[in-house]
Amino acid sequence: MTTPSDPTDPIAVKQIALVTGASRGIGRQVALDLAAAGRHVFVNYVKNEAAAQETLSAIEEAGGSGEIICFDVADQAQAEAGVKAILEKHKKIEILVNNAGITDDMLMVWMKHENWQRVLDTNLTGFYNVTRLVVKNMIRKRFGRIVNITSTSGQMGQAGQINYSASKAGLIGATKALSREVSSRNITVNAVSPGFIETEMVENLPMEEIAKTIPMKRPGTPREVAAAVTFLCSDQASYITGQVLGVNGGIV
Ligand code: NAP
Repeated sequence: MTTPSDPTDPIAVKQIALVTGASRGIGRQVALDLAAAGRHVFVNYVKNEAAAQETLSAIEEAGGSGEIICFDVADQAQAEAGVKAILEKHKKIEILVNNAGITDDMLMVWMKHENWQRVLDTNLTGFYNVTRLVVKNMIRKRFGRIVNITSTSGQMGQAGQINYSASKAGLIGATKALSREVSSRNITVNAVSPGFIETEMVENLPMEEIAKTIPMKRPGTPREVAAAVTFLCSDQASYITGQVLGVNGGIV
């Protein structure tokens, strides 16, 4: 039996990564790629434990390591308890990918306050709820990589998505502001901004029609987004901070 402080424990020498919303879609691929690059990855989910377990099994089958962790990023108490549990066990989190996100699309005239609030609570306040304690630990350790998953909707605005567009635009502002607060501590904070990516989030959209409006004439894949995220978490990206990296087939 080993403990995290035990030098013979192979996990103790790894960087610890937390990926929110990693049970499926983009977050799952990010978790797989970070684990393949040698990180011990916490796979966060809120409802779908079986899917989170599938992500972890895929990580382990590929020779990597990780753990699943359930918390609702929109709930401050839950999110902070989740982060504390990781820090109590491993004493550090070097990589944080704020990926958990939802849509609740409708035109503004039909949008109820609860539809607005739910999306803001998850996509924007979720960033605050998860990041505050993580960044405190990164400041103490003088190292960190934070990547926030925003969206072309936050850059351009999208009809039917005032809640989602506002949350993702807010995330870009928060990314830039936090990067200025912590750059001197060797912590980078960047955003990756996907366009239309083939996941459950867009499965009800008319993708053939949408593809005609994309300069590259196709949606992207989770692999293409995860490649940008893992790059920003790597040593090669050590002088990149406060940036928004688009992975959108030319939309923006
Ligand atoms: P997805 O397939 O719908 O997966 C969403 C993930 O987020 C799931 O793992 C889900 O967990 C988790 N999640 C949702 N609410 C949560 C909460 N309150 N707390 C913790 N986890 C929560 O979505 P996706 O397409 O991969 O999107 C991932 C990110 O990319 C989102 O931020 C999204 O806005 C952004 N994005 C997506 C696209 C696209 O075209 N797909 C484009 C631009 C940006 P459970 O399985 O437990 O429910």
